[in-house]
Amino acid sequence: MRRIYLDYAATTPTRPEVVKAMLGYFTDAFGNPSSLYSCGQETKGAVEEARGKVAALIGARDEEIVFTSGGTEADNFAIKGVAFANESKGNHIITSSIEHHAVIETCKFLEGRGFIVTYLPVDKYGLVDPDDIKQAITGKTVLISVMHASNEIGTIEPIAEIGKIAREAGAYFHTDAVQTLGHIPVDVNELGVDLLSMSAHKLYGPKGVGALYIRKCTGLVPFMHGGEQERRRRASTENVPGIVGFGTAAELAQPEMDGETERLTYLRDQLIKGLMERIDHTHLNGHPLKRLPNNVNVSVNYVEGESMVLNLDLESICVSTGSACSSSSLEPSHVLLAMGFSPEQAHGSLRFSLGKWTTEEDISRVLEVLPRIVAKLRAMSPLLKSHR
Ligand code: PLP
Repeated sequence: MRRIYLDYAATTPTRPEVVKAMLGYFTDAFGNPSSLYSCGQETKGAVEEARGKVAALIGARDEEIVFTSGGTEADNFAIKGVAFANESKGNHIITSSIEHHAVIETCKFLEGRGFIVTYLPVDKYGLVDPDDIKQAITGKTVLISVMHASNEIGTIEPIAEIGKIAREAGAYFHTDAVQTLGHIPVDVNELGVDLLSMSAHKLYGPKGVGALYIRKCTGLVPFMHGGEQERRRRASTENVPGIVGFGTAAELAQPEMDGETERLTYLRDQLIKGLMERIDHTHLNGHPLKRLPNNVNVSVNYVEGESMVLNLDLESICVSTGSACSSSSLEPSHVLLAMGFSPEQAHGSLRFSLGKWTTEEDISRVLEVLPRIVAKLRAMSPLLKSHR
């Protein structure tokens, strides 16, 4: 049975062009970019070329990109870096209650170090209200961090509006764009952000590499201490093959974006429509329109999300219950709880995330298989019996 992969928000396969671009940097061009001799300078050149490609994808200057080990490090660096660099100005941070764990846990860490964090509520679609941000700002607010789009429910947040508010308030503004980079337009000037987190493995690049955009003149306390790499902002020998792969993935994403958005939006809407028609007591989570072209998150009442995932896996269909980071824990999704779901409702959610290799046949197969699985699980479900 051919495997149907519908979890592109968890990670994407590295595209063959990217693997090809990376390969030579493991073997022939293996020099350390900090070495003065030519084999080091060759890899330094490759890192700088990749930096230019990533910068071009987000409308930034090359020197505003710092490569990291991924999105988690970029989030940690942005938030801790600004917080510690501005301790004399203030100790207040504003974020949303639906951020990725990389942001939420970093904020919790800072709370233990004397910072005060406001976790803003969201509406039933998972949208942050910019007016709530305005209300939450105090004279001590140094940083606002709101994600560009949710990895779980796909809702796209009003980042440009929040950017204006942050600027007026004189607070730094960070967005986690891990789920949007390469999928929808991301322009740091249009969004009005000072810091933006990226991860290569969500746009068909390799795992273990990402970047933080740092607007010129934004002071950050370094996250890693050691050598002078990345203009003294991130110590450690550069992951040259990874960085080259990230640059290649970024370069390839731009010209394909419009076409992919159109294709995936069509498939996404087919899937949503089919699920609503074929499975009763099912509803769409997240905003119906302001959502990522590849995200379908649904709640199927009276069934456990994990049971659906495991049964779909037996049919060679890979989906998740929420984010990959939280799906191994049995805690209900903090995102759905923040949107007003009960723990039972939150447990019955499924996230499909579509991508480059998703076809119409894949969608038809899901629509054929899932209603059968749900009917089988509901027949055994104590949740449905107690409802009747
Ligand atoms: N932020 C968001 C929104 C994500 O979806 C993820 C990964 O799922 C991360 C951060 C973490 O990125 P990485 O896996 O590169 O550390």
